[in-house]
Amino acid sequence: MDVRNCKSCGKMFNYISGAPLCPGCNAELEKKFQRVKEYIQENKSVPLSRIAEDNEVTVNQLKRWVREERLVFSEDSMVAIECENCGRTIRTGRFCDKCKEQLHSGFSDTIKPKAQPVIQPKKQSKEAKMRFLDRE
Ligand SMILES: [Zn+2]
Ligand SMILES: [Zn+2]
Repeated sequence: MDVRNCKSCGKMFNYISGAPLCPGCNAELEKKFQRVKEYIQENKSVPLSRIAEDNEVTVNQLKRWVREERLVFSEDSMVAIECENCGRTIRTGRFCDKCKEQLHSGFSDTIKPKAQPVIQPKKQSKEAKMRFLDRE
């Protein structure tokens, strides 16, 4: 059992997963989330700070929802957050499409060069040894 203090009200509760909030505060936050979701559909040109103010949530909480891809700003919305890598404007998630792609190819690039040099030197030294033996 994982008993924690609620981050919002300080009450002890049985932690399962997600945000460290007691069931009461979690339900409260969920209600706020639904409200924000409706709010941003009706108020497309309202900045994050206004959304936070009008819905009694923090800007950080709003950003967290966006990063978790739960909150999605529509294409014609004025509101957006920055890509965590290059700072470009994005509507949801953590990275822009470009950085997502780069991260992908970046990963495969780092795997390939690592694997090859390990095999080649071994092969060469074996051949060198064989040649050496042939001469003897
Ligand atoms: Zn609580
Ligand atoms: Zn980016």
